[in-house]
This record gives sequence, structure tokens and C-alpha cells, in this order.
Amino acid sequence: MTSPASPPRAAALLRGGAPRIGVLAVQGDVREHLRALEASGARGVPVRRRAELDDVDALVVPGGESTTIDKLTRAFGLRDPILARLKEGMPAYGSCAGMILLADRVLDAIEGQETFGGIDMTVRRNAFGRQVDSFEEDIAVEGVPGPPLRAVFIRAPWVEEVGPEVRVLARHEGRIVAVQQGVLLATAFHPEITGDTRVHRLFVDLVGSSTGSRTTARRTTASTEGS
Ligand code: GLN
Repeated sequence: MTSPASPPRAAALLRGGAPRIGVLAVQGDVREHLRALEASGARGVPVRRRAELDDVDALVVPGGESTTIDKLTRAFGLRDPILARLKEGMPAYGSCAGMILLADRVLDAIEGQETFGGIDMTVRRNAFGRQVDSFEEDIAVEGVPGPPLRAVFIRAPWVEEVGPEVRVLARHEGRIVAVQQGVLLATAFHPEITGDTRVHRLFVDLVGSSTGSRTTARRTTASTEGS
């Protein structure tokens, strides 16, 4: 179908136009993320099973409770496949608990709690929650065009420390609340519940810019196996 001369990006676009982005669907705002992804030009796909994970180009890890999402992904047999995909370079976006799950290090974790990791940062769970359980604030996020966006924080973490590869995209009262490292994006707040899809668009663009080589490689492997 794809001419060998086509650049990888074009191959991905020919495949169906929009990237397929999974939303880890074990807990949290799954429907809201799916809607925001669809409104941002992606195909949103709930991911509960390994086969569903294998078939997406990228993954959103929603908010909820990081301890519960950690336990449920193990119970669903998804933890190791997610780690493997992340290692391979799958783009991922985590909001709130999802940010915690993408962090290499967590403070105030419960006994035995683990993350997927990927972003060289230390997050503190429930950091804002110790002061006030939830709040909203207009904040400017680097890479998000237009006016500041309404950020909803619900028992949110903040980022205490980042490694040299991590770009800080936003702060609230001096605390880091949005970061990017390569194809990994994380926010301490919940953009999926405001109807403002600009953070999802940022992620979809990130996926688009990385989709070529990785997706094409994966699909090529699959078609080679099948032939
Ligand atoms: N406090 C939750 C946790 O530690 C995160 C809250 C949220 O995702 N809204 O996992």
C-alpha cells in the first residue's frame, strides 16, 4: 500500500489518518480523555487488555488513584507490556495520578507502590492536597497556544525535582505542574474535565511527530510475521 519512498509520517497517515491513542481504562476519567482525544484529531481507544495496548500508537494514563491504577494494571496483566512499550519509545501522557505513574521517583507513596516510570522526575503525591483538596487556576503552559488554560487540581501531586532531560512546561506558585521528556508528557492537573482540548492537542502533535518510525516498524513487523 505504502510506496517504499514514502516518509514514515506519510505511511502513518495513509494507514488511517489519525493516530490511535489508548486510554488506560482501569480507573479514572477514561470517557473524558477519549472525548478530548477524538476532539483533537486522534482515534481514542480504551485499553484494558494486552491486545488493545499492542494496537495503539500511544497511551494516556488518566487521573484517579495511583495506588489503585498500579494494582489494577498488575491484576490485568498490563504492567509488563506497558513497561515494554514505554521502553520501546511509546508516547504517553499522564494526568494527575497518571503523572505519578510516569515518574521515576515518588514521595509519600504507600508501601509497595510502584510506577511505570519514564520521566526523570520526583513527584510528591497529594502535595497540593495537603493544603487544599482541590482548586482551579488559570495557568500558562509552554507549547499551548492562546490564553492561559483552566487547570483543575484534585488531590494533585507536584514535581519536586527534574533531571536534565526534562522540560518544565508549567508552574503553579513556583511548583512544577507540567513536564515533557521526549515523547512523554505529564500534568498534575486534569485538562480532560474542562472541555479545553489544548493539552490533548499538544499530546496528539507529539504522537504525530513520533508516529512514523515506531508505528511503521511495528506494523511492518506484524505484516512480515503474517506473510
Ligand atoms: N492523589 C491521587 C494519587 O495519589 C491522585 C489524584 C488524582 O489523580 N486526581 O494517586
